[in-house]
Amino acid sequence: MSYPQAATGPVLYDFRSDTVTRPGAAMRAAMAAAEVGDDVWGDDPTVLRLQAVAAEMLGYEAGLFVPSGTQSNLIGLLAHCQRGDEYLVGQDAHTYKYEGGGAAVLGSIQPQPIENAADGTIPLEKLKKALKPDDAHFARTRLLALENTTGGKVLPTDYVRAATDWAHGAGLATHLDGARLFNAAVARQVAPAEIARGFDSVSICLSKGLGAPVGSVLLGSHVLIAQGKRWRKMLGGGMRQAGILAAAGLYALDRHIDRLADDHANASRLADGLSRLPGLTVESQTNMVFVQVAAEHAADFAAYLATQGLLVSSVGSAQRWVTHLDVDTVAVDAALAIAARFFDGR
Ligand SMILES: *Cc1c(COP(=O)(O)O)cnc(C)c1O
Repeated sequence: MSYPQAATGPVLYDFRSDTVTRPGAAMRAAMAAAEVGDDVWGDDPTVLRLQAVAAEMLGYEAGLFVPSGTQSNLIGLLAHCQRGDEYLVGQDAHTYKYEGGGAAVLGSIQPQPIENAADGTIPLEKLKKALKPDDAHFARTRLLALENTTGGKVLPTDYVRAATDWAHGAGLATHLDGARLFNAAVARQVAPAEIARGFDSVSICLSKGLGAPVGSVLLGSHVLIAQGKRWRKMLGGGMRQAGILAAAGLYALDRHIDRLADDHANASRLADGLSRLPGLTVESQTNMVFVQVAAEHAADFAAYLATQGLLVSSVGSAQRWVTHLDVDTVAVDAALAIAARFFDGR
């Protein structure tokens, strides 16, 4: 997994992440028209509506609008775990690797990271082995945290059922980092609630493929969300006339879910085109394309793309190209033509 770098020149095609989308005129109009109030007082009708719509859509009692996916996951972990508890989590998971160690730093919650399999799952056998007995030597294993999609991969439905059933049977709670849950639902052609099934809490991002500028929603029981509201205030995530942001989220949930299929088709098209170029090994699922560049070209290819105004995430010879609302099929074809030119005569 690579991490996005800042743009340094004029950008024509930005494939670094699905977070780079900019709200279009209709979304901005919805934001401008939003009815607002002070949401810390519970007075913002647009925030309340977003929370209710998301809860209904995903099959939960309640929702909580928060500024970011990182905060949403952290609040979920804080609501499930006490000081000295631990959560079982994938070595590659955002909630372990990409959130600054927040659960440990701010919650005194110990992660128990476990190597992910190639399909993004954490094998059940490894989960069972990591579960600590009730013994004073150990942290109390309290929670299983999964991620779907993870590295663009949709977790197998049978696996999710088996893992969450096992967790509940072992007395653990379950949390899903569903930053890209809607990509999983669209790829599987199931309702979003099907992807959330089996989890006591879910975090969704409005600012990834859904294209809103800001925001995530944590979903769970009334009790969990009431606790979460307290943590949100403590973390500085209590926002006032936040309906202006929630309106973008509502717009995205209404208009931008089904179209994720376009991003997936564009990622396939991109993967197909890139795989025809010499020295590139390409893997793709949902809206992500992972490219391994042959060592002799790696540095030059990445630098060349940047000079052409084409941005991707790259670390060494590994690149990640992500499709989204702001790159259409024409942009994909233009990007492929740019990439192909690098290999002309090589
Ligand atoms: C982006 C992301 C998050 C965090 O969202 P932010 O809004 O960037 O804090 C969490 N999990 C996954 C899998 C993500 O991709």
